[in-house]
Amino acid sequence: MEANEAKKRIEALKAEVEEHSRRYYDEDAPTISDFEYDKLIHTLMDLEDAFPQFRTPDSPTQHVGGKVSSKFDPVRHEVPLESLMDVFSHEDLFAFGSRVNDAIAEEKTFVVEPKVDGLSIAIEYRNGKFYRGATRGDGQTGEDVTENLRTIRSLPQELRNAPERLIVRGEVYMAKDTFERLNSRYEVEGKPLLANPRNGAAGSLRQKDAKVTAERCLDLIVYNIQFSTAQYKSHTETLDALTAMGFDVVPYKHYDNIRDCVEQIEWIGEHRDEFSYEMDGAVIKVNDLAQRSRLGSTTKVPRWAVAYKYPPEKKCSRVVNIVVQVGRTGVLTPKAVIEPIRLAGTTVSNATLHNQDFIDKLDVRIGDTVWVQKAGEIIPEVVAVEFSARPEGTQPFKLPEVCSECGSPVVRDADGAAMRCTGAECPAQRLRNITHFASKDAMDIEGLGPAVVESLVNAGLVKNCADIYYLDAQSVAQLDRMGKKSAENLIAAIEKSKQQGFSRLLAAFGIRQVGVKAGKVLAKRYSNLDELMQASVEELMTIDDIGPVTAQYLADWFAAPQSRHQLALLRDAGVSFESTEEVADARFAGKTFVLTGTLSRYTRDEATDVIERFGGKVSGSVSKKTSYVLAGEAAGSKLTKAQELGIAVISEDEFGAMIE
Ligand code: AMP
Ligand code: ZN
Repeated sequence: MEANEAKKRIEALKAEVEEHSRRYYDEDAPTISDFEYDKLIHTLMDLEDAFPQFRTPDSPTQHVGGKVSSKFDPVRHEVPLESLMDVFSHEDLFAFGSRVNDAIAEEKTFVVEPKVDGLSIAIEYRNGKFYRGATRGDGQTGEDVTENLRTIRSLPQELRNAPERLIVRGEVYMAKDTFERLNSRYEVEGKPLLANPRNGAAGSLRQKDAKVTAERCLDLIVYNIQFSTAQYKSHTETLDALTAMGFDVVPYKHYDNIRDCVEQIEWIGEHRDEFSYEMDGAVIKVNDLAQRSRLGSTTKVPRWAVAYKYPPEKKCSRVVNIVVQVGRTGVLTPKAVIEPIRLAGTTVSNATLHNQDFIDKLDVRIGDTVWVQKAGEIIPEVVAVEFSARPEGTQPFKLPEVCSECGSPVVRDADGAAMRCTGAECPAQRLRNITHFASKDAMDIEGLGPAVVESLVNAGLVKNCADIYYLDAQSVAQLDRMGKKSAENLIAAIEKSKQQGFSRLLAAFGIRQVGVKAGKVLAKRYSNLDELMQASVEELMTIDDIGPVTAQYLADWFAAPQSRHQLALLRDAGVSFESTEEVADARFAGKTFVLTGTLSRYTRDEATDVIERFGGKVSGSVSKKTSYVLAGEAAGSKLTKAQELGIAVISEDEFGAMIE
């Protein structure tokens, strides 16, 4: 590569890495996998090694990512929280071994540990009591997250037989099952989902409100003593001491040489799935602490340890079928059913195909041989088709046009690739729809949160939103954790919600793009739901804030048989369809006026105001779409045009009568 080209490439890589680093550390919302990120960093490092003249102090290779944010008080780390050098192959690992050999002549041993994928922290204990904890930040200064750390149950508040002063380094993580549990709850509640356990942990720990952290059920595992008033000779000794003090300590294995470490590294990789936490590699450390200090550190990483990164595992298998699942939000997700293979420690028998666009792009068909990948712990996905192995007679795969759960039409999101079932009574969406119906911004039914909805659904007492109005206190009282009193309260709250009226009821249906705001706008325009149902798409589109997409969603929803059934049940139950908003006079809805000539009774601005207040529009030129031309004195070409097109021409007097 020419110097010129290298310079450009380095600049581009720097910008790219910085951007991903910002997303990862500051926003806890990465858009590429850690593995891809590490690869980028390494490409940059290699280039900078080849062209050192272009290496600048501000390069991301020269500092640990992440700035200290101003949300929390800064804490200066007494012992810096270093990063680790990554290796991606056995060869690189042996190179690490020889570097250690060159520096330390006498015998040495190594420890292998899983590399827990969470958020690095340092915690300090004084006289055995938890004193303070901070995030890594830039390695020198972190953020004081003591209060949030106190909510973590696996962080001991008090230690057994602790030294006077102790600083421990560990990883705050979200266990895989916690992650799944939270996300499945958030999905029902309509909250944004956590991207992955690591971001779940980082985002939860850096909350201003410790209560939020507590809800996220984080865990802590420790793997290093940063500082202690007690003396230790080896890393294994410190880990055992930490266990004795009451910490959850990273599991470790101790070996005489690097060659033996490899087996353990491979073993961890193969069994990744059995650990309660995610991991993104294994860490190999020199055990003897005196040897460690002799090896020391570079500006960024210790010379006595490396992180071995597992590549995402990829294997071939055959697609025996493609099945479609309907999720809680109604989205259809196609999945390839494949002949079982072992991948990253688990047996994989299906892999996601995400959506129709993805299927089209890869051209995956039933019968194809495909490459399946599991990157980290993410759900396995199909990454490519082995076209050379495609059998005769395969057909492109198209997602069905109706929902497999309820038979309703499936439509594509206007703003994305997702295909969604439109059924108001779709069983797959039941939990989520009823929870939304009862939520604060919708019918606001006190006591009808996700957990209660779930037990009502599980007990078969409700199948759709309207069913809640047919509940009786006696059957509700039979539910788990429901007494007679709370059942009666719930029934009373449900009864009260019947009077919420048009705008909230409309928002409660969960029609796409029709939330609180649209509910209000529409309830100002129509005095009840029935009037809204009569409105055509064209009429709806004339309303401010209602675009063509929303208008169509509304019309489709009201036309669907399941919605009609819902509405009938709600009406019979006595739920009010009436607007509680002041209904505006919209006599000019859908009408367009053109003003021409000299008006004597109003200024043009006044006339425009009146027309718009009544829901009409004013345009500057006459066309077939014009409803009226309001003509004053000495009207010119616009009048002629109106006459040619046969458009109604009105005088000021006639206009006056219309707005009376
Ligand atoms: P990196 O962030 O890729 O430079 O990797 C270094 C990070 O690995 C440290 O900041 C730690 O948070 C994390 N880590 C996880 N498990 C371990 C472990 N067993 N030993 C050392 N570091 C670990
Ligand atoms: Zn459905």
